Formats: sequence, C-alpha cells, structure tokens
Amino acid sequence: MSAQTGIVSVALGARSYDIVIGGGLLARSGELIAQALGNAKCAIVTDANVAGFHLETLLDGLGEACPRRGVITLDPGEATKSFAELAPLCERLLELGIERGDIVIAFGGGVVGDIAGFAASILRRGVRCVQIPTSLLAQVDSSVGGKTGINTPQGKNLIGSFYQPGLVLADSDVLETLPERQFRAGYAEILKYGLLGDVDFFSWLESSWRDIFSGGPARLQAIETCCRAKAAVVAEDEHERGSRALLNLGHTFGHALEAYASYSDRLLHGEAIAIGMALAFEFSVDLGLCGGQDSGRAIAHIKAAGLPTQIGQIPGATPGVDALLALIAQDKKVQAGVTAFILVRGIGEAFIERGVEMEKLQDFLTRKCSGK
Ligand code: NAD
Repeated sequence: MSAQTGIVSVALGARSYDIVIGGGLLARSGELIAQALGNAKCAIVTDANVAGFHLETLLDGLGEACPRRGVITLDPGEATKSFAELAPLCERLLELGIERGDIVIAFGGGVVGDIAGFAASILRRGVRCVQIPTSLLAQVDSSVGGKTGINTPQGKNLIGSFYQPGLVLADSDVLETLPERQFRAGYAEILKYGLLGDVDFFSWLESSWRDIFSGGPARLQAIETCCRAKAAVVAEDEHERGSRALLNLGHTFGHALEAYASYSDRLLHGEAIAIGMALAFEFSVDLGLCGGQDSGRAIAHIKAAGLPTQIGQIPGATPGVDALLALIAQDKKVQAGVTAFILVRGIGEAFIERGVEMEKLQDFLTRKCSGK
C-alpha cells in the first residue's frame, strides 16, 4: 500500500462524505466502507473491463465487512448510460434484495458511476452508494459531487438526479490498467480545473503533466487538487444554481459533439471536452472577452497532452452547424430558451455568460466546422 493517502471532505452537512485518495485502497475497501457506513449488504455494479482487471482484488478487500454481496457486470462504454440498461440494472438490484440500509458500490469509470449512482438514487427512493472510481476521469471528477444520470438521443445526461455518495475511494493503483487513450481523456478534466479557476495549477500542469502520465508523485497530487477544487465548488452550490456551472467549461460544445458522434468511441467524453474547452477559449477571443495569448497558451497545452482541439479532428463526417446548434439548444443550462455558456477572460478566469447572441455563435461555429 502507498504510504501516501489523502482525504478530501465534501462538506454538505448531514450528507458530508470523504474522498479517500491513494494506492492500495481496494485491498482496504471493507475496512474503509465499514468505518464510514457500517456493515451492510453490498451490490457491486461494474463493467466487464474493470471486472476483468480488478474485481477479485475488490472482493478480497471487502472481506467480512461486506459478507453478503452480489455483482452486476455491465457492458463497457457510453452506450450503457441509457434507459435500456437502467431498467434491467434496477431489476437486478431488487432481485439481489438490496434494501434501503444496503449499499450499491459503483465500481468503474464515469459511465458505471453515473448509471449505478442514478439507480441507487431511485431504487426504493434511495439506497446508499459508494463510488469506487477506476478511470482518471472518474477519480478527478465524475465520482465526486453527486451528479448521476443517463443519456437520451436528445442529449447527454438529460435524465438524472443529484445524489451524493456516502464515500468515494479513489485507488490510484487501478489506473495502471487504464488504456492510454482513456487516461489522456481523463487528463482533459484535470486541465479543466486549471483553465476555469486556477492559473497556478495550470502552470504546474504545463511543467508536470508528463509525471502525471508516467505515474509519478504528481499523479496523486493532481487527483487530490482536482477533488479539493470540486469539493469546494459542490459544497458552495450543490444543485448548480450558480457557480457549479463553471465546472461545465467546454461542456456545452463538448456535449453537443458527443451527441453528434452518437456517444461512441469516435469521440470519448474527455476528448469532446478538450475540443469544447479549446472552442470556449476561441469563442471568448472572438467575442473580445479574452486575449489571444491566453487562448493560444491553453490550446497549446491541450495539444501537447495529445488531446484534440478542433471539430475536424473527430473521425468521420464533420457535423453541420445546424445539427450542432440544435444539440446545443438541448443543453441543461438552457433557461427560457437561452443557453448559458461558460466563457473565459483568461486562463483561470471562467464565468457564466447568458447573453450570447445566436448570430455570433452561428458565425463562429460555421468557421469552426469548416476548419478555419
Ligand atoms: P468510462 O466509464 O466509459 O470508462 C472508460 C473506459 O475505460 C471503459 O471502457 C472502461 O471499461 C475502462 N476502464 C475504466 N477503468 C479502468 C481500469 N482501471 N482499467 C482498465 N479499463 C478501465 O468513461 P469515463 O471516461 O470514466 O467517464 C465518462 C463518463 O463520465 C461520461 O458519461 C460523462 O458524462 C461522465 N461524467 C460525469 C460527471 C459527473 O459529475 N457525474 C462528470 C464528468 C463526466
């Protein structure tokens, strides 16, 4: 076990919980869950990839703390976050006899975390949930803060709930088996925290990103910094009535691109967010809100990390402007028909803009879709 274990608390009154970050946590999962939530029946929801690499270690680690348990293994991939998969998942949880005092363990990347968390929130009107994120993206972002949900053809995450877990265990050892492309996609969400509100963290990433990729000490530091940043935002605005929306930097464009790519391997979530963040900077420059130097610096680092920055880099046909605008109009941040954009005044200076003129957006996207 790694000697270094960090704990970040998410302060939400009676619903507060800890994020435990470090190596070797799967092996200690029973003890850690029992400490936080007591002994209970557990249903582990996972996907086939994660199960193949890590289920045995988790089952060993749960030991006597979780004597009665069942495992539900879903198909890997974004398409699993759907109504079609939610119904059998809920029925399997009921068949396993999961009751209010029991625990659903979401053991996987953001897809498993989102659908299992959502199932936990609606099963018997809410059973307890522990998130054990196994992808970089899930460890730095999706397992924290209680957003759960599924996709529909109309758009991303449009069906869901706010439902906080009782504990998050982010075991950095499991990242050793994460495919490189997935790791890179997760790095996009790490970058996001620097770009939206912390220029010093961004500067540190510019010099430390290789160490994060190679698994050096910077990796744990980056995970903990992101969890701390997210915990602070969530504690201030749990239900996204204001500042939490800043965490969606790059997501208005990114979600539209993901929906356009049919939530497939053509474009991973983190890759879509990388393009979305580059577009948010360029659009901010277009609107005269941000200097070209900051935008150039942000985009240079996204590229250096091997992430896409342009719509034209999505394999296959390039989306049309009308299709993208229609998808953007479905964004959850739409209120009274007006889409809120997260724009920037510079690196680390994101803000919420509700007054974007449609013509300017259309003009910008027309240029971006034609590769200019
Ligand atoms: P994912 O869950 O599809 O995982 C990526 C791939 O990596 C999958 O094939 C998975 O099987 C595999 N995998 C995961 N852990 C592994 C490991 N340790 N070893 C080997 N393979 C492993 O995708 P993701 O990138 O983790 O999450 C993306 C999802 O998260 C999207 O649906 C996105 O909308 C959601 N998300 C939610 C929030 C939130 O606040 N709830 C925030 C950001 C993103």
